[in-house]
Amino acid sequence: MSLLKTDQELTRNSYYVATAPRTQRYAALQDDVSADVAVVGGGLAGLSAALELRARGYSVVLLEARELGWGASGRNGGQVIAGLASDISVIEEQLGTAAARRVWDMTVEAVNLVHERRARHAIDCEWQSGYLTLAVNARKAKALRAWQEEMYLRYDFQSRWIESQDMPRWIVSPRFHSGVYDDFNGHLHPLKYTLGLAAAAAQAGVRIHEDSAVTALQAQAAGALTTLRTEARVVGRDGVVQGSVRARYVLLAGNVYQQGIARALEARIMPVGTYIIASEPMDPALAGSLIPSGAAVCDTNFVLDYFRPMQDHRMLYGGRVSYSTATPMNLAESMRRRMLLSFPQLKDVKAEYAWGGFVDISMNRAPDFGRLSERTGDQGHANIYYLQGFSGHGLALTGLAGKLVAEAIAGQAERFDIFSRIQHRAFPGGRWLRTPALVLGMAYYRIKDLL
Ligand SMILES: Cc1cc2nc3c(=O)[nH]c(=O)nc-3n(C[C@H](O)[C@H](O)[C@H](O)COP(=O)(O)OP(=O)(O)OC[C@H]3O[C@@H](n4cnc5c(N)ncnc54)[C@H](O)[C@@H]3O)c2cc1C
Repeated sequence: MSLLKTDQELTRNSYYVATAPRTQRYAALQDDVSADVAVVGGGLAGLSAALELRARGYSVVLLEARELGWGASGRNGGQVIAGLASDISVIEEQLGTAAARRVWDMTVEAVNLVHERRARHAIDCEWQSGYLTLAVNARKAKALRAWQEEMYLRYDFQSRWIESQDMPRWIVSPRFHSGVYDDFNGHLHPLKYTLGLAAAAAQAGVRIHEDSAVTALQAQAAGALTTLRTEARVVGRDGVVQGSVRARYVLLAGNVYQQGIARALEARIMPVGTYIIASEPMDPALAGSLIPSGAAVCDTNFVLDYFRPMQDHRMLYGGRVSYSTATPMNLAESMRRRMLLSFPQLKDVKAEYAWGGFVDISMNRAPDFGRLSERTGDQGHANIYYLQGFSGHGLALTGLAGKLVAEAIAGQAERFDIFSRIQHRAFPGGRWLRTPALVLGMAYYRIKDLL
C-alpha cells in the first residue's frame, strides 16, 4: 500500500483536525510565476523558512501538495524539546565538542523561537511548560542520571532528578522507576501553531498555494534559475491543472512525502509510522491527578512512548512504530492498551481519536540538512537547499532549520553549514529494501528495551 494512501486513513480521525478549524484555504497554482525562492512543503520547516526569507526581503512562493500542516507538523505529539533525536555524542564524534556545543545551543534557540513566534504572531496554541523524561527500570535510570549530569556539566542544561520514592508526586503510574524534570521544554497544539505560522507567512507576503504538488524540478547551469512544475486538481475544472515557478533558490521541505523530484535525498531517510490517541475528556480531578505538573512525558526506550495531559482533560498518548506503510489493525484499541500500561486507572476511559503519521528517520537520527549539489555533484543544484531527517524530533527544530536556510540564502551560511557537515549514510537496500533492513535493526533495539 502506498505511503500516501495509508496517510489519508491516518489523518481521518485526528484530534488536532477536529479542534483547529481551518479558516483560510489557499488557491492552487494555475499559472507560470517567478520568485526569488520557491519552497516545497507547507509544514513547519517550509513555513518557517518562508517567513524568515520574507523578513529578509525575498519574494517567496510556497507550494503545498495538500493542505498546510497536513504532514507531520499538524499531527505530532506536540512536544517542544531542545536537542536532537540522536544523542549529542553523534555530533561530538563527527564534528568535535565545540561544534556539538553550537548545535546544542541552536536546539535551545529553536525552543525559544517557538515562544518568540507565538508572541509576535499572537498564536494561541495551548502552550504548557514542563517536561518529564522517565526511566522504566533501574538500569535505564542509571543511564538517564549519567545523561542528566553530563548535560548539566557540559551543556549547562538544568533539570532536576526525581528519585523513585518521589515519583508519585510527578506521575501516578506503576510503570516508571525515576526520572528527570525540566521546565524549559513543554508542549502545545501543533496544528494550531502551524496554521498560526501560515497565517503570519501569508500576512507577510508569502504567496501560498495549497493542492499544488511539485512533480518535477528542472535545474539549469550553476547560478541559473530552477523551474518547479506543479499539478493540481481544481474544483470545477476537468483533469489536472498545471503551473510552474521559476526561482533563484529552492528549498525542499517535503519530508517523507517528497518522492520523485530529488531521488538523491530519498534513501537517506526512512518513513517510520508512529501513532497517537486522544482519550475522551475525563473527570477533571482524575485528569489532573495523573501528571500533576501538567508536563509532557517521554520514556527512555528506543521505541518510546510519549504522552501529555490536555487542557480539555484528555490524555494524548503516542507510541508504537511501524516499518511497513500499512496502518496497524485496531489502532485505537492497541494504543489504548499501551496507555493503560502507564495509567491502569484509565481503564474506563475511551479513546475518542486515533491517528498517526510518518517520521523521517535518518540512519544516525541526526538531522540531514544540505544543498542538493552535495548529494548529486551537479553544480546546477547548488541553490537547492533541503531539510529532512528530523527523526521524530522536529517540532521545534524545523523552526530553527528554516531560519538557517534563510540565513544561508542571504549569504550567512556558517550556522547552516555546521549541520550540513554532519555525515549520513543511506539505508542499506536502497529505496525498496531499506524497510526490511531497518526492521531487523529495530528488532534488536526492541529486545534491548525489554531488558
Ligand atoms: C505522529 C508523529 C508524532 C511526532 N511527535 C513529535 C513530537 O512530539 N515532538 C517533536 O519534536 N517532533 C515530533 N514529530 C516530528 C515532527 O512533527 C516533524 O519533525 C516535523 O513536523 C517535520 O516538519 P516538516 O515541515 O519537515 O514536514 P511536514 O510537516 O511533514 O511537511 C511536509 C509537507 O510537504 C508536503 N509535500 C511533500 N512533497 C511535496 C511536493 N512534491 N509538492 C508539494 N508539497 C509537498 C507534504 O504534503 C507536507 O504537508 C512527530 C511526528 C509524527 C508523524
